Order: sequence, then structure tokens, then C-alpha cells
Amino acid sequence: MLDPLPTLQRVFGFPGFRGVQADVVARVLAGERTLAVMPTGAGKSLCYQLPSVMLEGTCVVVSPLIALMHDQLRSAEAVGIRAATLTSVDENRAETIQRFKAGALDLLYVAPERASSGHFRELLGQAKLSLFAIDEAHCVSEWGHDFRPDYRLLEPLMDAFPEVGRLALTATADAHTRADILKQLGIPNDGLIVSGFDRPNIRYSIGAKDNVNRQIADVIARNPGPGIVYAQTRAATEKLAEALGRSGRPTRAYHAGLDAAVRAKNQADFVASEDMVICATVAFGMGIDKPDVRFVAHAGLPKSIEAYYQETGRAGRDGDPAVAHLFWGADDFARARQRIGEVEPERQAGERTRLQALGALVETAGCRRRILLKHFGEDLAEDCGNCDNCLGSPDAIDATETAQKYLSAVFRTGQMFGAGYIEQVLLGQSSERSLTNGHEGLSVWGIVEGDEVRLVKPVGRALLLRDALRTNHHGGLEFGPGARGILKAGDRVSLVVPPPRERRARRQPAV
Ligand code: ADP
Ligand code: ZN
Repeated sequence: MLDPLPTLQRVFGFPGFRGVQADVVARVLAGERTLAVMPTGAGKSLCYQLPSVMLEGTCVVVSPLIALMHDQLRSAEAVGIRAATLTSVDENRAETIQRFKAGALDLLYVAPERASSGHFRELLGQAKLSLFAIDEAHCVSEWGHDFRPDYRLLEPLMDAFPEVGRLALTATADAHTRADILKQLGIPNDGLIVSGFDRPNIRYSIGAKDNVNRQIADVIARNPGPGIVYAQTRAATEKLAEALGRSGRPTRAYHAGLDAAVRAKNQADFVASEDMVICATVAFGMGIDKPDVRFVAHAGLPKSIEAYYQETGRAGRDGDPAVAHLFWGADDFARARQRIGEVEPERQAGERTRLQALGALVETAGCRRRILLKHFGEDLAEDCGNCDNCLGSPDAIDATETAQKYLSAVFRTGQMFGAGYIEQVLLGQSSERSLTNGHEGLSVWGIVEGDEVRLVKPVGRALLLRDALRTNHHGGLEFGPGARGILKAGDRVSLVVPPPRERRARRQPAV
């Protein structure tokens, strides 16, 4: 078989492959269908760019974002790869099509909506193809956090060219999403290659919001290098930038509502800077290559664990120590649940599971990295020693007693009711259902009161995470193997939860 190493060195100037790149490239060169799950920065593009140079014909790359495509185009052309993009904003489309048909392109980048048109299928029939590369492949899955219906049309398109290889790539896929991508894109189960997700130089820290502007200002004061602060709304990024700028640090805002020229300038200034703080919506960071970002702070809950991993992953690409701080509140969860209520019914279960996983990450008093990596299917042999909890979290609460009450309520109601009902029982909230079931006379009825009330939901999530509780197909909770230890063997359940409202309200407003 062809040895890719000389081409890697000659064309890309890299001495060797990184991580799983060698395995992925070997499969692609052998024509085997592959799904590569690799974290951001691991070098996914090389996995199709290199074969595109070595194989005869053109590699068709499907990518969902035009801006990203143009970045990729520039970097491919910079090393002498013959590449072009075919999108609605390209004015040289006729020329590109000519080059494609003439076999003068190694790479052709297209958006998924184009890939699904009949016209395009015809065009593909008129050229020699070397490979289909599907970037951001999680978009094909309803389980993924970014479903795009156009991706569903890729498989029929690729099926029309059965002899052409397939490489799907994503940075963000939990086990469920991965299985779905394999199925939706016609890739065999043994075609899955997962790279290591750990970013050991990033220190994770997660805490409750308690005057978040001040908390972020503290993070900035302690971290003099360049950093990104993610806020949830455009207005919030501007307010934060203004407030934080008063500390004397160069600070900019970045969001999709800013004028394109301003946005480009803020991004360029940030990339060039050694101490700038950029306050951004999640639109920021895709495709930017700044290895020395020293911190990423979240002023509110990210969309999912995948999003958190991706956003924090922009810190410390150079391998030097970096920190990731997340501040969240119960209100973030309330808003997230409300949003879930607004999505199409068939996607709600997936979204709820995703939110639950995120809840478990932020509320745990155990090792954050362990939970994060477990989400991507990796088991950490021991606690990481480089997250807030491993380093001794000041805010952990022992919630063992509440956990025992929770488990008792599940047990005494017959291990068949969902979390919502168990909460009603614990809080003693009478309903027609609780009356009919005769549960109001149980010893656990209304057993949780006062400050302990805020622990109930987090405890429910923690019990699911520890496999002390499991959900049956009807959504009812039943005991899992972890229940016994908590009820009988002295296992402790500790959590980090936001402080009660009164304490927060008394603080001074913003920085
Ligand atoms: P991803 O798409 O996975 O986020 P990229 O393809 O953008 O990652 O690659 C991230 C960086 O790593 C780029 O600057 C790229 O040039 C570099 N890179 C990729 N492969 C290698 C390699 N084998 N050796 C050194 N650097 C590499
Ligand atoms: Zn840890």
C-alpha cells in the first residue's frame, strides 16, 4: 500500500502523524469507510487533505459553514493543494466546475444543501472522485446537538457512487450519536476510530453564579494571558466587555449582530494579542487558530457537554497550562428546560438526556474530567488532580441524607414513577394522582423542607449518574446497583449547588 509519510512531510511539512491520524489515513487510503471522532485541534482536516493529494480524482468535502470552508480553502491552498469551494457566495462557480470536471482539483468543498440537489449528483458523475469527506458529521444525527436535515440526503448521494470511499469526521459525538452517524452514513461499526479526548493541561472549574460579572472579573485578574468569555446573549457580551474593560484590560465583544468589518477586526486583534479578553457568543471561536488562549470562562450554562468541551477546548492548544471556568445558576436550567419544550417532540428526549448529563457535570463534587471523558466513552484510571473538585472544592454540600430520602420515596412508591412525581412526594405537593395512589400517608410524604428543597433535583440527577437509579422505558425510576451503598453501606453523595436565593440577592450588582 501507499506510504503516506513522505507526502505528509513533503506537502504539509509535519515530521509525523499525531494520535489517530495515521490509523484514519491508512483506512481512507485502503478505501475503507470510516468515522473519525477527534477533538478540536487534533488535526481532522489532514485526514482527508492528505489522501486527497495521494489518491486519483477529487475529494468532495461536505462542510456546514461557509466561513469555515473558506478558512479551510486558504490553508489547503497555502500548502499547494488544488482546492476550491462551491457555495452560493462564490462568484467563480463556472470556473470551479470546469476545474472539477477536468480533474484539476484535489479538494472540492460544498455545503450540504448543494450536495443534496439532483444537479450536483449529475455533476459528480462527470468527474473522477477519490473520497467523500463529511465534516461535522454529528449534524446527520437527531441525537447530535446540531441536527441538519440536509445531511440526511448525503447517504443516498454517496450510494450513487458506491466505489468511492467515505470519511465522516466530528469532534463532538457521545456514544449514542456515534452509533447513529454510522448508521445514517452507511459506515460499518468497525469503521469507528476515536481519538483520546483528554486535555490534561486544562484545569476545569465549575461553580454557582454569585454576581457573575464580579466572578468573571476575578478570573481575568488572576489570568493575565488572552482569554475568551462566553455569554449567552449579544447584549450580555457587550455589557460584559464594557464592565470588564474598566479594569484596564483590552476587551472586545464578538457576536453575529456586529458589523462584519468590526467582527473581523475584533477577531484579528484578539488573535494578535497577548492579553486581550474577548466577550463572545458561541458564534466565536470556530475556525480560529490561536494556540495561546490561557482561559475560557462561561457566564452561564453551555448548550451541552459537547459544546462545553468544544468551547473550553479553545484554551491551551499550545499545551501550556490553561483554565476553564464555568458559572451557572438554577435559572439556566429553567431556561434550558423551557427551550426543550419548544423543540420538535421527537427531539425532546435526546435534549433532556443531554441537559441531564450537563447537570451531572456541573453538580458533581467528584472529578470533573472523569465525567467529561466518560461522556466521550473514555474511563479515567484515577481522578485527574487538575480540576476544582480534585483540588478541593470549597462549596461541596453533603447531600447523602437527601439522597436516602429520594431513594426511599422511589422504593415506597413501588419503583415505577418518574422524577417529577417523586419530587412531589418528597415535597408533599398534593395532587389527584397522589391522592388516588394513596401516597400521602407514606413516611416520606413531604419529608423535604426548607433549604433542602433545592437539593432534590440535583440529587435525582446525581443518583442517575451514579447508577443508583435507572429509568425504565416508561420514564419510571427504579433502583440500580449503586442504590444499596447509599442506603446501607455509608456511601456519601456530595454536590455543588447554587446558594439559596436570599444570599444571592443581598450582593451588590455588577462589577
Ligand atoms: P481540527 O479540525 O481537528 O480542529 P485542524 O485540522 O484544524 O484540527 O488542525 C489543528 C492544527 O494542528 C492545525 O494548525 C494543523 O496544521 C495542525 N496539525 C494537524 N496535523 C498535524 C501533525 N501531524 N503534526 C503537526 N501539526 C499538525
Ligand atoms: Zn479531577
